Amino acid sequence: MRTIIEPFRIKMTEPLKITTREERERALAAARHNVFLLDADDCCIDLLTDSGTGAMSTHQWAAMMLGDESYAGSRSWKRFEASVRAITGMAHVLPTHQGRAAEGILAECLVREGHVIPNNSHFDTTRANIEYRRGIALNLPCAEAFDTEHIAPFKGNMDVDALRRCIAEHGRDAIPFAMMTVTNNTGGGQPVSMANLREVKEVLAAHGIPLIIDACRFAENAYFIHEREPGYRGRSLLEIAQEMFALADGATMSAKKDGLANIGGFLACRNPEWAERFRSLLILREGFPTYGGLAGRDLEAIAVGLMEALEYDYQVYRHATVEYLATRLGGLGIPMVMPAGGHAVFLDARRMLPSIPPLAYPGIGVVNALYLAGGIRAVELGSVMFGHFDGEGREQPSPLELVRLAFPRRVYTQSHFDYIVEVMEEVWRDRARIPGYRIAWQPAMLRHFTCHFEPLAR
Ligand SMILES: *Cc1c(COP(=O)(O)O)cnc(C)c1O
Repeated sequence: MRTIIEPFRIKMTEPLKITTREERERALAAARHNVFLLDADDCCIDLLTDSGTGAMSTHQWAAMMLGDESYAGSRSWKRFEASVRAITGMAHVLPTHQGRAAEGILAECLVREGHVIPNNSHFDTTRANIEYRRGIALNLPCAEAFDTEHIAPFKGNMDVDALRRCIAEHGRDAIPFAMMTVTNNTGGGQPVSMANLREVKEVLAAHGIPLIIDACRFAENAYFIHEREPGYRGRSLLEIAQEMFALADGATMSAKKDGLANIGGFLACRNPEWAERFRSLLILREGFPTYGGLAGRDLEAIAVGLMEALEYDYQVYRHATVEYLATRLGGLGIPMVMPAGGHAVFLDARRMLPSIPPLAYPGIGVVNALYLAGGIRAVELGSVMFGHFDGEGREQPSPLELVRLAFPRRVYTQSHFDYIVEVMEEVWRDRARIPGYRIAWQPAMLRHFTCHFEPLAR
């Protein structure tokens, strides 16, 4: 088999700053040992997130020049709406500046105190929006999701029996809607099968509970279904995506992921009464319903990007880069979530650093070691991001301590990944020297973004 090449070439370059270890030590200390507080210029390879960090195509840049900046009813809005409708089949489309704005509108309109919102796994902003409305954000991932070594094709699935128990326990009236996140970001970027989506929909439909898809990585999920689920080989990714959305009553989307854009999102639904309520809040919070917090040129970039994300050769290449890194790191014996996710490689920090207890944040240890060794910025998905405080104010760790190396779309090349492997090899070899951390200061919510750390003595 031939090398899978990047299905694009480079027309414009963006310089990377190569820093010394001393410079990185100073920068990390100034950032209170929290990589979110670093200047991006001080990061050589930035794998913090795949959100809004992608490179746009010539088609997207060309479309941006056609952006119609009319306040109401612009051409760009029409193209955006047509693109979203073609993929989701949903009549009502509301543009938002990001995914979380769509979640905020959804939660404000439909979630009341004590409501329960099941999901395969809530993303952090989704959880925060539901909890802000005093709802309960419930994660119901399938059992395989917790075993990071177990190879299964659809570890992002929901545990359907747990969903049945949840409905029996809380009752239909306490559940205004359920969600399915594709792919399951928090659960390691693992895909959800069409069979699971269908089964979840059947259970919900029997009780009249609507299903909302958190669609951030719908195209990557469609690719996994194409590759892994029997019966989908002959289908286009667009057809598979359409089949996924046909099972849903609504969708929230961050166009910063599979919209291949640097900003944007949407909320879509079938129910006209919902749409009416969403639209009122959209006007209040985001903007007039035909631009919703986005410039006409952004709407254009997203309209094109959503379709480019469904191009098969693009997904083949994208998946090959993730697989390449995972295979090389696996060859070094570095513990990871297996199989690799759709947009990231997830290192298992708990198994990498078994002597550091979860509440000394082994994930932060790995993240900071990667930065110091090679200027690579990754992110912790462990007890800092997902830990919580129990009734007595005691901090409870997350079940998993992961470190995510997220892949910006169409940005880094093979030699960048070879460099990442070399840096990882060094970090792994010197892992006995990696310290745990304590939190020196934290805010009330979403603490991972802004909290300050201090390294513990080894
Ligand atoms: C990124 C993301 C969101 C939130 O989208 P933003 O555009 O960052 O506000 C919601 N859900 C999932 C699964 C995500 O990955």
